[in-house]
Amino acid sequence: MSDRVGVIVLKPGREKALLRRHPWVFSGAVGQVRGDPSLGDTVEVHNHRGEFLAVGAYSPVSQIRVRVWDWQPDFDPAIFFYKRISAAIAYRESLPAPSGNTARRLVHAESDGLPGLVVDQYGQTLVVQILSAGTERWREIILEALVKTTGIDNIYERSDVDVRQLEGLSDRVGSLHGDPPGRVVIEEEGLKFEVGLNSGHKTGFYLDQSLNRLQVREMAEGKDVLDCFCYTGGFSVNAMRGGASSVTAVDASLDALDGLQTNWVLNQLPQQFLTSVQADVFQQLRSYRDQARNFDLIVLDPPKFAPTTAQVKKAARGYKDINLLALKLLRPGGTLVTFSCSGGVDAALFQKIVADAALDAGVNARIVAHLAQSPDHPVALNFPEGAYLKGLILSTTGKS
Ligand code: SAH
Repeated sequence: MSDRVGVIVLKPGREKALLRRHPWVFSGAVGQVRGDPSLGDTVEVHNHRGEFLAVGAYSPVSQIRVRVWDWQPDFDPAIFFYKRISAAIAYRESLPAPSGNTARRLVHAESDGLPGLVVDQYGQTLVVQILSAGTERWREIILEALVKTTGIDNIYERSDVDVRQLEGLSDRVGSLHGDPPGRVVIEEEGLKFEVGLNSGHKTGFYLDQSLNRLQVREMAEGKDVLDCFCYTGGFSVNAMRGGASSVTAVDASLDALDGLQTNWVLNQLPQQFLTSVQADVFQQLRSYRDQARNFDLIVLDPPKFAPTTAQVKKAARGYKDINLLALKLLRPGGTLVTFSCSGGVDAALFQKIVADAALDAGVNARIVAHLAQSPDHPVALNFPEGAYLKGLILSTTGKS
């Protein structure tokens, strides 16, 4: 290919991950860089004997030196992106479709064979995150492929994510195509949510929690619910729709709580059963403990405490802290729905942290269900890092 300006030769024995089709080449595995590839250039990856392994995007500053596009040498970006995006959409079309839902993740990066590309659909608007040097290089082609495959004209970019700095890229936010609105109202499982495409977290909404929100709705009847880290009320609104006796929603962000209020009204939920509290969850849980406040169902959906393995220890303390406090606030027979979206904390470690918390809280608890991200955020078997969201539903039986 004319655009191929370099070859990355791996150190002996460092091709194992690639042979298992893991799509990343770490800097430590690189023996030699032939040619003079720069940020985002397409390179071939060879083993130390010079045999072809993969073709990918070069990122000279990132620890992830190459993100693999394909396992065979023919890489024609126009065809490649069109095909992979079409396949990603076909997969979503194959999922059992909850009737009336208007938002979903269309492209989930590595798990759809498209490292560094996230695309969410909110009604007739797409929100795109271009997270890697490779996707940045082909942004025009990607855009064209998206318009062609979805037939959607309005595309907004939300590439304001920390990982871009690791790739040597600066933030980019704004309209990419058509005339995308700043806010849209989406429908999820019969509920309405206003989503700020230009101001919300991630691409605007936590689409990965959609099935878990439904689970909470189904468990909420007659319960006093505490929704910690509530954002714009995804779990709170579902709990109320499910017949909760009361919902207390806590978030540090006033904008998030404004969003909760908007969504409460959009769904015509009774105001008298909602208490929203602007506070730090760690402090608020302690203050509820000191007041001897109790709840029947508590949701803990904190932000990423450990984006990478480097922060795991500190993150583990954070998770243990909130889970311990929450378990203490539950009435006997109460339910804790607890999550971690930290890439650095896997499901086994998360369960251990929660088990330690229960032990220290003196609470007996059993696992009712293991939760994960919705299937429109799939986990490719060759990319276990894709399984970032893990959750547990715990049923408690009182003090041990
Ligand atoms: N459960 C939500 C998503 C939660 S996102 C949903 O389903 O839509 C995490 C939220 O935690 C954000 O709204 C952020 O403002 C809030 N947050 C982060 N740190 C916090 C803290 N220490 N105390 C309270 N809220 C916090």
